[in-house]
Parts: sequence; C-alpha cells; structure tokens
Amino acid sequence: MTAHAVDFHCHLDLYPDFEERIAACESAGTYTLAVTTTPRAWRRNQELTSRTRFVRAALGLHPQLVEGHGDEIAEFERLLPEAKYVGEVGLDATPSHYRSFERQKAVFQRVLEGCASAGDKVLSVHSARAATPVLDMIEAHLPPGRARVVMHWFSGSKSEARRAVALGCWFSVNAPMLGNDRLAAIVKSEMPRDRILTETDGPFTQGSNGTILPGEVGVTIEKLARLFGSSAEETSAAVSGSLARLMKATMS
Ligand code: MN
Repeated sequence: MTAHAVDFHCHLDLYPDFEERIAACESAGTYTLAVTTTPRAWRRNQELTSRTRFVRAALGLHPQLVEGHGDEIAEFERLLPEAKYVGEVGLDATPSHYRSFERQKAVFQRVLEGCASAGDKVLSVHSARAATPVLDMIEAHLPPGRARVVMHWFSGSKSEARRAVALGCWFSVNAPMLGNDRLAAIVKSEMPRDRILTETDGPFTQGSNGTILPGEVGVTIEKLARLFGSSAEETSAAVSGSLARLMKATMS
C-alpha cells in the first residue's frame, strides 16, 4: 500500500457529502485518518471505512465537546477494543473551553488508561493552549511502547515540542501552522523529519477554493519543502516514509 498523500487528521463526517469524500480519498490514494468528535459518530465511520485501503476511522471524544458529551466516555470505553485509531482526544485550555478543563482531564485520563491497557493504538491528540498538561498526562498514564501519539496542530512552545519529541510523539502539521512564523520555526528546529505527517483538520481550515477538502495537503507539502530547503517530491516521500514507520512501530 503506497499512499500518494497523507491527511492524518480530517473530520470526514463533517462534510455534507461524507461518503463521496471517502471515495475521493480512496481513489486518489490519500491515506486519511477520519477522526470523530464523539464515540457515537464512530460506528458509521468504521462501517464506511471497513473495506477501504486508504481511509481509517478513529474513535474520538473531542475535548471541546466534553462539557456536553463527557458522559460518553463510557461508550468510548466500550468501543475501544474495536478501534485501532483514537482521535480526536486531548485537552483544550482556550478561554471558551477552560471551564470544562478539570472534566476534560478526567476524560482524557480514562482515554489514556484505556489505550495503555489495550496496547497498540495510534492516537491523534489535540492540545490547544494545553501542551504541558497533555504531555504530563501522557507521561503519567501512557507508558512508552503502549501506543503511538501523534500531536495534531501542535501550537506549544519550543521546550514543549522538545519534550513531546523526547516522549516519542509524532506530529501532524497543516498549512495554518506553517503560516505562523513561531510555529514554523518550531517545526523546523524541533520536529524530527521522520516523525512529521501532514493533515488538513478539514473542514476547519481553508483550502485553495474555500473550505479545504480532505486530502488537500499540497500547500502544506510546499510550505514544508520550502522550510526544509527540499523539493515537494522529497518532502512528500519523507511524509510517506514517516507514515510507514508509524505503522510499523505500532505492530512491534
Ligand atoms: Mn480536529
């Protein structure tokens, strides 16, 4: 299986033409991680991707939805044995969600403990204004080797990035991150090139024609190429290599 592009964090089910979007990723050969925001959304994602070669469904409970849906952690735990991929999960300490922060931590702890005990999961983790508490919790509740963590849209500091690298995290990066000078500098100086994946976080970012499409990572590849002084082809091959290593790592 050779993916032509990688979109390791996309909310496919939030597009009105969800099923057509899956088919489009599949025919383009775009490896796409379809993250979900509540455990109840996962079943349909899982059914629609059970026979796809390039699209995978991740079981999630988004930190921004914990305030209204935190009780669904029990459903998350029931479904976890069937899920290889987990996301979107994590913590969000931005002003609109800080109110639920303690509850988010309790939910995220159960997510991490479930993954630690099951083993062999791949996580896509949100950490808006919360990189340190996210890394603290990973360190405390997810022993090395029990799972692979991909930090989605990392926006922490340089030292937080270093700590994430030391903890073995991977990173899925997008165009808005690379359009931010501070974050682009962190991508360049701190993130190991063989642990960088691309993502869209669609439909929450903009593409060349309005709302970004799943798998529309061309601009991200170009920005990464410029940042690292390499060609788009080399960069794309490096991202495919990172994906292959991530997958291999989870089987050991
Ligand atoms: Mn997202």
